[in-house]
Amino acid sequence: MKILKFGGTSVANDENIKKVKSIVQNAPDSKIGVVVSAFGGVTDMLLNSLDRASSQNKNYENTLNEIEERHIAVIKNLFPINKQSPILSRVKSQLNDLETLLEGSFLIGETTPRLSDKVVSYGELLSSFIISEFFISEGLDATLKDGRTLIKTDESFGNANVDFELTYHTCSTYFADVKEKVTVVPGFVSSSHNGNATTLGRGGSDYTAAILAAATNADVLEIWTDVSGMYTANPKLVKQAKCVSHISYEEAMELSHFGAKVLYPPTIQPVLTKEIPIVIKNTFAPDEEGTYITKNENDNTKTVRGISHVESITLLSLEGSGMVGIPGISKRFFETLSQEGISVVMITQASSEHSICVGISDKDAKQAAIAVNNTFEYEIASKRIDPVHVEQNLAIVALVGDNMKSHQGLSGKMFSTLGKNNVNIRAIAQGASERNISAVIRKDDVKKALNTLHEAFFEENIKQLNLFVMGVGNVGARFLTQIKKQKAYLKNELKLNIRVIGISNSRTMVFNEDGISLSSWEQELANGVKANKDTFIDRVNKLNYRNSIFVDNTASMDVAKTYTRYLNNSISVVTCNKIACSSGYESYKELKQLAKKYSAPFLFETNVGAGLPIIDTLKHLIASGDKINKIQAVLSGSLNFVFNNFNANTTFHDVVKQAQEEGYTEPDPTVDLSGIDVMRKILILARESGYVLEIEDIENKSFLPEESLNTNSNETFFESLKKYEKNFQLLYSKAAAKECKLKYVAQFENGKASVGLQEIPKGHDFYNLEGSDNIVLFYTERYPNQPMIIKGAGAGADVTASGIFADIIRIGNF
Ligand code: ADP
Ligand code: ASP
Ligand code: MG
Repeated sequence: MKILKFGGTSVANDENIKKVKSIVQNAPDSKIGVVVSAFGGVTDMLLNSLDRASSQNKNYENTLNEIEERHIAVIKNLFPINKQSPILSRVKSQLNDLETLLEGSFLIGETTPRLSDKVVSYGELLSSFIISEFFISEGLDATLKDGRTLIKTDESFGNANVDFELTYHTCSTYFADVKEKVTVVPGFVSSSHNGNATTLGRGGSDYTAAILAAATNADVLEIWTDVSGMYTANPKLVKQAKCVSHISYEEAMELSHFGAKVLYPPTIQPVLTKEIPIVIKNTFAPDEEGTYITKNENDNTKTVRGISHVESITLLSLEGSGMVGIPGISKRFFETLSQEGISVVMITQASSEHSICVGISDKDAKQAAIAVNNTFEYEIASKRIDPVHVEQNLAIVALVGDNMKSHQGLSGKMFSTLGKNNVNIRAIAQGASERNISAVIRKDDVKKALNTLHEAFFEENIKQLNLFVMGVGNVGARFLTQIKKQKAYLKNELKLNIRVIGISNSRTMVFNEDGISLSSWEQELANGVKANKDTFIDRVNKLNYRNSIFVDNTASMDVAKTYTRYLNNSISVVTCNKIACSSGYESYKELKQLAKKYSAPFLFETNVGAGLPIIDTLKHLIASGDKINKIQAVLSGSLNFVFNNFNANTTFHDVVKQAQEEGYTEPDPTVDLSGIDVMRKILILARESGYVLEIEDIENKSFLPEESLNTNSNETFFESLKKYEKNFQLLYSKAAAKECKLKYVAQFENGKASVGLQEIPKGHDFYNLEGSDNIVLFYTERYPNQPMIIKGAGAGADVTASGIFADIIRIGNF
């Protein structure tokens, strides 16, 4: 004897029902019980139509019509025309009875749990009838048996308790006598001793099947559904989840209790005592192995077997000084909940002796709060206990595994993983069996929590980084090209899986939750929606992905102003935009503090020296206890390019123009030539060295005439350069006469910074600085005379992009 159960999706339409038929037809030659659910979605529709009818909303008729159309369409597609009419007439007559019930509820404007069970049972009654008729018409040796005559319960409508003795007796007698090979049984429905329709709770068809399996001592219970087994996490929320091939009854029970909907929790009990294996199989991929649920075979190698979650949880806490040392408070608290029929999903560790805290379903919250407040009315009135505290919109995530008890450090790892992603934990609990550790978190954090936990416990340390890139000009575009090229290497060697989820330029923006293709991002962006910084942030926050990184490749003040909003939500920021770090000290400090508070790195290596590891080196020096005494540097790749190429045979104007055209200057070249860019860089280095400094504190000995400095467009600026060509030639010839080269130098010493053009003599470290290179000399306590030197290309889109890339990898290793 075998019991096969097919869920809602497996029987949702005629095509799926044909698949079910093949599976049943191909089953080995023994008696088979086939338990079926209502057609997918019909149970919800039935409840919805009763809800509308009882609130005297005429629209219940629309839902009823939809239900009718669904069933009639299936019949018309499954049966040849000449066989349809008896089936149609039986279904229509049942639907008429259903209509009468709903009409009644509409007229009196009321419903009862008893009526609700009667109404909702039509889903399974109709589906089982149609499916059994289809089996027969296809030549299977099949019959239909009404589940209400097999499964007997009390009258706890909506979630009835089974009378196992009577039920096992009726079932075993029936199956011993039945002649047909296949018996189709509606799941979920049952009846009370008084003959009223009852149901076994949402998802209860699994339970029906388990009861039949236990009653008949079946060899196996097969649960056929829309996924290929029990996964390490809900595969609809965690794409990387893996199917678990073997799992113990207890682990499966624990996972289903904490929300793995693939199995209705009570299902396991009846088969467990008889050690009947459960196999979870996929109706749409019947060749896949599926999951075997059996007695614990003690595979000690696996600690965490799965991660599950329950949504819509409310925390109920009772607190007050009057609770300390008074016996019986928790007894009264739990008794109250039990009398109200409210089930407690978890009891959490109380932070102090005078509080009790439980997790219950959202739908019970209101009723529970009223009942508990009533019970403790006297204590509340005398201010010994506070009115019950209700916190909604929460969820539970749970790690489950038989062998978790013998391993230390799992809860530490769980909480630090969540903490690093700023998932706030409201309460924690560990079952006495130590088979689960559960945490209550915000509902909005569920997807992120499941994915980070899955990454930490199941994915061999592969870490996913989710990038949101703003600005795809020179630097941004190169950056995306570099990621594309390096993606496979990073995944294989560094175990980093980099995905670009959002891209924006100043015109449009685009998001793709599966990752934007790095081969066709330009097209995707061109077809995107109108760019908007606020909606961009909202979207990033809403997606709430783990390891989210905002990458700013712009030079925009407005974008820099948005960093706090990212960091505040634990989203890291990587930027080559210098504005944030070089504006007021307070806001620089705030960004640093936010980064620390929310464990979201704020990295800006490319603010100084493009891809050169200047800031990172500085950080390491300071972290290891060194102290910066003096910094001397040529920090403008643009100015170095200009002064290296400028001589008696060229004009200053032409060289600057060339620098601009080759991408060595900022879009507005005065930012470089006025020295402001270098001021910002030395300011950042001074701040990173631990000094409090403002841009106004930096002395700037500008070599540009006032008039050039004050131009308001690139054109007028270049005009003025032409006009003052003589001045520039003079600067050159003076230096040349002394065999010196002109270098734009930044300096920081004794807490003071300055920038300006200097004549550098032969033999100086700066003298031979080529092209657009940068150089920094750090004089520190450990490097007092011979400075630590960092030198190399300090400008250009490619090196800047690679510097941003390096920051991303730093976050990956964080
Ligand atoms: P059926 O209608 O066949 O009874 P359900 O919708 O009740 O199917 O259960 C199957 C669903 O359970 C899957 O589609 C999946 O979304 C969900 N699920 C949640 N957690 C898990 C898990 N750990 N493994 C597999 N499926 C899960
Ligand atoms: N049809 C019922 C429900 O949707 C029972 C089941 O499918 O298991 O809850
Ligand atoms: Mg189900």
